[in-house]
Amino acid sequence: MGISYTIASGKGGVGKTVITANLGVALAQFGKDVTILDADIAMANLELIIGLEGQEVTLHDVLAGEANIRDALYKGPAGVKVVPAGISLGGLRKADPDLLEDVLVKLMEDTEILLIDSPAGLEKDAITAIAGGQNLLLVLTPDIPSLSDALKTKIVASRLGTNVKGSIVNRTGSEKTDLTIQEIETVLEIPTLITIPEDPEVRRSSAFGEPVVTRSPRSPASEAIKKLAADMIGVSYTIPKPETENFIQRLVSALFGRR
Ligand code: ADP
Ligand code: MG
Repeated sequence: MGISYTIASGKGGVGKTVITANLGVALAQFGKDVTILDADIAMANLELIIGLEGQEVTLHDVLAGEANIRDALYKGPAGVKVVPAGISLGGLRKADPDLLEDVLVKLMEDTEILLIDSPAGLEKDAITAIAGGQNLLLVLTPDIPSLSDALKTKIVASRLGTNVKGSIVNRTGSEKTDLTIQEIETVLEIPTLITIPEDPEVRRSSAFGEPVVTRSPRSPASEAIKKLAADMIGVSYTIPKPETENFIQRLVSALFGRR
């Protein structure tokens, strides 16, 4: 029996899917048996960024009662197991979200860590994903609309009995008007587990259908996600200093013979 985390946000487009996919791969790289479920059945896109699109059997078929969940499990990068939701509109029409609960129970039997990529909003599909995870990782970007929606999600999750572990503040450092971590923590009253900087490598990797943690493992977003993965499983991981800093050190050593 594993441990499950729902990755939710309230607001759409804040990075839930990117974080779920890459966190799953990072945890697998640390040797964990990880399953990622794309529970955003209407706006599925996890399969696109992890390079597993176009699979024959998907969650849609399972939720239509036409396939077994074990037939919708695929091996992704670093051996992470992935259940794609399916991106076809036809598949979506026949899917019954009420069957999701049963899917979650079955997946938990066969994995150490289950990550559930939740839809945005607080409609029934999102509520099912939030209630279905033992723990919640709350994703937001450092702006007021995202914070406001994150707060609503946190309150709903607590009422549903899901353990809200903390927040992941994504896309930091690009705007001077960004909220500070202290402001975010004051409002949400939960710890910030990690901040993930704005990083062009994220979008670039998505375009190639590859997780950023495997395509650009040294990029700032990858390092932050690896650190989060390490913290979740109690492994020590230090984010290496940026290249420029190392370069300056080397330059100073070369010029002055300092070590
Ligand atoms: P959600 O699942 O919450 O709707 P996505 O994971 O699909 O959000 O991300 C939305 C967009 O933001 C994508 O285009 C993704 O590439 C981009 N993105 C997410 N995180 C970052 C980041 N740290 N730096 C740059 N772009 C990001
Ligand atoms: Mg998404």
